[in-house]
Amino acid sequence: MTATRVLVLNSGSSSVKYQLLDMRDHSRLAVGLVERIGERTSHLTHTRLGEERATRERGGPIADHGAALEAVAEELAADGLGLDSPDLAAIGHRVVHGGMFFTEPTVVDESVLTEIERLIPVAPLHNPANLTGIRTALGLRPDLPQVAVFDTAFHTTMPEHAARYAIDGRIADRYRVRRYGFHGTSHAYVSRATAELLGRAPEDVNVIVLHLGNGASASAVRGGVCVDTSMGLTPLEGLVMGTRSGDMDPAVIFHLRRVGGMSMDEIDTLLNKRSGLFGLCGDNDMREIQRRIDAGDAQAKLAFDVYVHRLRKYIGAYCAVLGRVDAVVFTAGVGENAAAVRRAAIEGLELFGLAVDEERNAVRSGEARLISPDSARVAVAVVPTDEEMEIATQTYALVANGTALEDHS
Ligand code: AMP
Repeated sequence: MTATRVLVLNSGSSSVKYQLLDMRDHSRLAVGLVERIGERTSHLTHTRLGEERATRERGGPIADHGAALEAVAEELAADGLGLDSPDLAAIGHRVVHGGMFFTEPTVVDESVLTEIERLIPVAPLHNPANLTGIRTALGLRPDLPQVAVFDTAFHTTMPEHAARYAIDGRIADRYRVRRYGFHGTSHAYVSRATAELLGRAPEDVNVIVLHLGNGASASAVRGGVCVDTSMGLTPLEGLVMGTRSGDMDPAVIFHLRRVGGMSMDEIDTLLNKRSGLFGLCGDNDMREIQRRIDAGDAQAKLAFDVYVHRLRKYIGAYCAVLGRVDAVVFTAGVGENAAAVRRAAIEGLELFGLAVDEERNAVRSGEARLISPDSARVAVAVVPTDEEMEIATQTYALVANGTALEDHS
């Protein structure tokens, strides 16, 4: 019997998210999350899906990623879905930074691990955790193909004029300073799903994807190929996010260093963890911000307005980048749920052929859907993202064609 299951692992600095999928019918068999790894209050939530749906939780310390993955393996085994199952075809790992080197999902071997390690200076928070996850999984199932799926890969098609910063080229090359972009699996999945929603081939449609979660990024996708994206060397550039500033005059950093006397680490923390919506109003959750706006809170309203203003600038910019736009699509936590953000982002853009139908926009649904009026020249859509499904699909496509399986047999 052919193995058709893929375990997707998303290892963060102190957490591991996982999903077990069956690629025969794209069903999810189990999902779970290990949080606060390395703390005394670690917590694992595991849900078996399907007819015998059940959720189990465990508390108590989980010392490191190794212990976390072993706990995940135990939970899966308790449901008869263990890592030793012959049905398991591969493990797919989310890896945040693949630099310019990784343009495709890649079966992991020693040289791949070395290259991911070499990219740690440009992704100091993410790549070490991703590596630990891969190494631990290799320890548990050394015989199984492990596939790295990179957040940056979808954006490696960006032309040089979009990827280059206008700085000394020799310095940029020496330190690998360029725009890489992130959330690539989401932009890939959502741009394809949008073409499907429009009943057209991905090669035939130009889409602006707005991935608005706690992290947020926009991308311009021409005929299924990314031509620009808002995040850069790191995920700090671009849109206003939950806790990241997004675009800013880089001289703000010199100013805070020289005049404010702040250390580089303090500025790094300020811009990545204490800025964005949180910096502007003390909350990074759009639900809370909307509640405060409804209660007449001026600070929350300003945060919302700054967020939307930046978003509109990117929509305009990407209309110019693409020339012809077939769809603008909202996704991720804010994009899928916050009708007020969608309305404010599109309002008054009739000149660009963009409009939102109030009734359609107000509908709450987990389905991909159009929110523009039938008469609109450009479709406006909401398409729920599914990064785990995309990672599983890319992983399975790689191992099911035989090469990876042969390598590891
Ligand atoms: P994500 O990173 O995609 O999981 O998105 C998380 C963010 O989505 C949260 O921080 C909230 O700001 C936002 N969000 C989630 N649910 C809602 C909702 N019902 N309405 C508005 N914003 C939401």
